[in-house]
Amino acid sequence: MKNFKPADKIQDLQYFGEFGGVNPSISDSSTYTFLTAKSMFDTFEGNADGCYLYSRHATPSNLYLGQALAAMENTEAANVTASGMGAITSVLLQICSSGDEIVCSRTIYGGTYAFLKYFISKFGISTRFVDINNLSAVEEAITSKTKLIYCESVSNPLLEVANLPALSEITRKHGLKLVVDNTFAPLVITPANCGADIVIHSLTKFINGSSDTVGGVICSTREFIDELRNVNNGATMLLGPTMDSLRAAGILKNLRTLHVRMKQHSYNAMYLAEKFEQDGLRVIYPGLKSHRSHDVMNAIINPQFGYGGMLTVDVGSLDKANELMELMQKENLGYLAVSLGFYKTLFSAPGTSTSSEIPLEEQQAMGLSDGMIRFSIGLDENIDKTYEKMKDCMKRVGILKETSEPALA
Ligand code: PLP
Repeated sequence: MKNFKPADKIQDLQYFGEFGGVNPSISDSSTYTFLTAKSMFDTFEGNADGCYLYSRHATPSNLYLGQALAAMENTEAANVTASGMGAITSVLLQICSSGDEIVCSRTIYGGTYAFLKYFISKFGISTRFVDINNLSAVEEAITSKTKLIYCESVSNPLLEVANLPALSEITRKHGLKLVVDNTFAPLVITPANCGADIVIHSLTKFINGSSDTVGGVICSTREFIDELRNVNNGATMLLGPTMDSLRAAGILKNLRTLHVRMKQHSYNAMYLAEKFEQDGLRVIYPGLKSHRSHDVMNAIINPQFGYGGMLTVDVGSLDKANELMELMQKENLGYLAVSLGFYKTLFSAPGTSTSSEIPLEEQQAMGLSDGMIRFSIGLDENIDKTYEKMKDCMKRVGILKETSEPALA
């Protein structure tokens, strides 16, 4: 959908508090009273709109946040969860039963990979990992047992961009669901506009943006969200990954400034990507022409938000990566920490952290070398100053020569 304005969609939603507060009141209760026994029964049956039963099922605060995220992702409804993994595992277990298969991108968050490779097999569900950019390999992996294709819009940590319109064509053709984790690209990409059936986020990252809580969301049709909440067979109702109302209220407030933050994250990441590339380093950033899926990215982004705040740089070896990260932290350029979307730059070596669940030979096959540093670029006001200081650190650890050429090239 051209010219989609996801930030406007969020801004258009107004919720007032009980006493005219500018923020909605927080529901500080785990259970709710009913005036009649019949209305309690109807609520259990799912036939009493506007009534609340028990907070694992739904709370006003969680519903407000869910509505705002559904508006942002252009889906009919959404259900918030206690973490991104709570959202991912619930979706997969809701759709798949014993004997079913999943086709999944091989470059995904390590926790999702571990769940699909080692955990979900306990229920007789198996996964085929593929290069998601190789569309014929994706199609070849589909069998009569396949239920869904799973990928990240922009993948962790190699920043591969999934060709969502093409994947959606494949899922339509084979009667499958396309499930997309959009954690790396909120506002930047609207997967539902590209044919995704279910869109997931770890709210822990850019959407909340203050690294003070974990959270997740599932955005989809009204029908699928109701299925997840069903008291008899709904995964979020029965597995219980429930977000606390206090946290939902906090995330909703932070969501209000996401558009401003994403523009600044993207601006800063693009600035550094161009500079590091000019310095001769191997840089992976979807905004660069050299990026493998730059054209795919251009075809699907909401351009007003840029190319996102994630940037990967290969500095040659794990030792150099560690030395550089420790020095950058000492120089207050960011923190040596996993996760992303914080005001401060965060960096980690994915091979030994967020992707360590992926066996070494598979890391090598997908192009994840051990000298890679994944940066979540912060909201620095003077990104030119940050660049100069980072370059100085790179020279001090011998990654760049004094003349700026890469010492390891
Ligand atoms: N999806 C992606 C792309 C992630 O990077 C992460 C966590 O790092 C998750 C999902 C899991 O989210 P959470 O940590 O909120 O459970």
